[in-house]
Amino acid sequence: MDSAIDLFRIFISEKGLRNTPEREEIIQEIFSSHNHFDVDELYLRLKHNHSKVSKASIYRNIPLIMDCGLIKEVWFEDGHMHYEHIYGHGPHCHLRCIRCGKVVEFVDQVLEDIEERIAGENGFQILDHRLDITGYCSKCRAAD
Ligand SMILES: [Zn+2]
Ligand SMILES: [Zn+2]
Repeated sequence: MDSAIDLFRIFISEKGLRNTPEREEIIQEIFSSHNHFDVDELYLRLKHNHSKVSKASIYRNIPLIMDCGLIKEVWFEDGHMHYEHIYGHGPHCHLRCIRCGKVVEFVDQVLEDIEERIAGENGFQILDHRLDITGYCSKCRAAD
């Protein structure tokens, strides 16, 4: 499998854009961890690694990295969007605790069958889907 950076380089040159070290730093950081992230978290991670990438630069580059198919939006929370890397990481759904932030990823064939059936009945071709179940995890429930 090509690395995310390789794919991005191809994408950038096909678009006729100039690549920058900043962009590659951002992508490298995104793929260095499997966590879901938002711009602030990504900025802090980069800063922690002594990167000089600015928050504005992250905001500018995220749409491009999404266009390239490396990341996607996963949920909107606390007034901003959260993302995850999808390259090399198959489609899945989320269970999310709104108290402690715990996230469980899951895949279930039954859900996929239902989606296929509904899409088929409506003549749809599925490109993407999002299932984000929010609630309280077992730990947070026990603490109540
Ligand atoms: Zn919790
Ligand atoms: Zn996920």
